Amino acid sequence: MYSEYWNPKNETLPREELRNLQLYKLRAFCEWAYANSPFHRRRFTAAGFRPEQLKTLDDLRRIPFMTREEWMDSQLEKPLFGDLVAADPRHAIRYHLTSGTSGRTPIRVLDSLKDWEWSAEVWCYGLWGFGVRPEDVMYFAFGYGSFIGFWGAHYGCEKLGALVIPGGAQTTQGRVEQIVEMGATTVCSTPTYALRLWQQAAEMGIDLAKQSKVNKMILSGEPTGSIPAAKRQLEQAWGAKCGDTAGMTETGSIVIFECSHQPGGTHIIEDHYIEEVINPETGEPVPYGEPGERVCTAFGRGFIPLIRYRSKDMVVRVPHDTCDCGRTGDIYDGGIRGRWDDMKLIRGTNVYARAVEAIVREYDAIAEFQIYIWRKDNVRDEITVRVEIKPGREEEWPELQKKLGTQLASAHEGLHFNVERVDYGTLARFELKAKRVVDDRPKAEYGS
Ligand SMILES: [Zn+2]
Repeated sequence: MYSEYWNPKNETLPREELRNLQLYKLRAFCEWAYANSPFHRRRFTAAGFRPEQLKTLDDLRRIPFMTREEWMDSQLEKPLFGDLVAADPRHAIRYHLTSGTSGRTPIRVLDSLKDWEWSAEVWCYGLWGFGVRPEDVMYFAFGYGSFIGFWGAHYGCEKLGALVIPGGAQTTQGRVEQIVEMGATTVCSTPTYALRLWQQAAEMGIDLAKQSKVNKMILSGEPTGSIPAAKRQLEQAWGAKCGDTAGMTETGSIVIFECSHQPGGTHIIEDHYIEEVINPETGEPVPYGEPGERVCTAFGRGFIPLIRYRSKDMVVRVPHDTCDCGRTGDIYDGGIRGRWDDMKLIRGTNVYARAVEAIVREYDAIAEFQIYIWRKDNVRDEITVRVEIKPGREEEWPELQKKLGTQLASAHEGLHFNVERVDYGTLARFELKAKRVVDDRPKAEYGS
């Protein structure tokens, strides 16, 4: 009855044609940026780059990288929006800002009506690709504030004809009740909050896997959606398939999504973006299968042209045919694997929050956790994983403590992890981006 693809032509375009389409769009987009954005004109000129130099897609590398810091500086110099904006702010119809995950100054973004329609269109690739259809009842467990979050997904769902239930300013309990009462078939939420909803439901005596009609979850906002153990836990709890998506405030929409074939990664929407993967130190491209930083060019946002933007997201790109769905967009194996600046150095060993989470989530008895980094006696760095045990599973704790400690150490060159238990319900629950790493060491040496 329905096609498997939202955009059957572009999603299955042979890669050679896809590259031609990207080149065509890139040239037009750079011309627009050069003519209308003082920020880009200044930087293009300093790098000796002109849009007409783009003869093949490889010429992309003539364009200078763009960083969040440059963008932020331009906003600080010329409040409110800096000189990146390529149109008169009076023509904008929407304002959003980044969530400021790393504790820095948020970035302010503006969109035109056309930009906003584009955002909805691109979300449709991911929603449809994971199986959302006009018959679906979509529940948004989302705060609808100035953080962009699921706003684009909301309009995407309307565009494809599904029924949208905006679960804004409400308690978690109120949301659980609404999901059941309204017969929601799909829930859009962060992975952390999806778990929180499930825990709340359990406390209310509701088994969401049996008493709700939810069969799909659209996850976004945290890398967790592609961590196998975390995903398995959510899928079992809800009795629903979980699909990972990722975007950022800077792009205004998703960039990657997991299709319904669930290949263990997320397809790049390559007719609307150019995604490069580079070595974060040298800026040189890395081959398929090797970790690197993703660099994003987003064609759809005229107001704030994003060209070769350094995302600091860590990814591993693999060819499109790793998945058998027929899409020709390449895949980020394991989704977004974390952020380059999230790496913590503990006594000479690199620790990534995502790697720790991947192990912690294998323990079904753990309800919530936190990674606490501190300095003992002002000399020795220590890492402690604090866990909450699910009610009724307390007797598993002694065994779990020992096993988890051993497993974490063997995954980190023998680094000792303290594993501590805290009372159920004491660790923070997050609706937006979870902040599970607390670094209590003196700031001057380690930054934010
Ligand atoms: Zn696929």
